Amino acid sequence: MAMSERTRTILIVVTAVAALASGGLLIARNIGGESPAGEETRLRDVIDSDTGVILRDYPIKHGSSFPWKNPKTGKNSLYPAERCFWTRDGKAKTEPTLVFVKAYANSDEETLCPDCGRKVVPHNPTPPDSLMLDAAEQVQRKR
Ligand SMILES: [Zn+2]
Repeated sequence: MAMSERTRTILIVVTAVAALASGGLLIARNIGGESPAGEETRLRDVIDSDTGVILRDYPIKHGSSFPWKNPKTGKNSLYPAERCFWTRDGKAKTEPTLVFVKAYANSDEETLCPDCGRKVVPHNPTPPDSLMLDAAEQVQRKR
């Protein structure tokens, strides 16, 4: 029985969201066992609070807490990069904007996404599934 286009899209979205959520993708990558014994790391996207530079797949030692040291500047200014999937016109997108959330640096100031202007918080929630699905369909249509 052939899958409908809609069913296939839902499967793609579910897989993508599952991979993005809670760094599941990173855990999967680490199963390969690249790290030497006693140096358990996991990879995640981090952002420099001084420069705004994003480092993808930065290896974080198990049990260590941020701010982590930026090897390029020698400063402890790396924080978890939060993902914002919103667009300015209230839709979702599949490629998130990575944002430094000031709360991670113990600031009371709220953080607004530089792309859409929405508030971004630690463990930032994704837009509703229906919007994520629409975004995925848009991407498919462009292919
Ligand atoms: Zn945004």
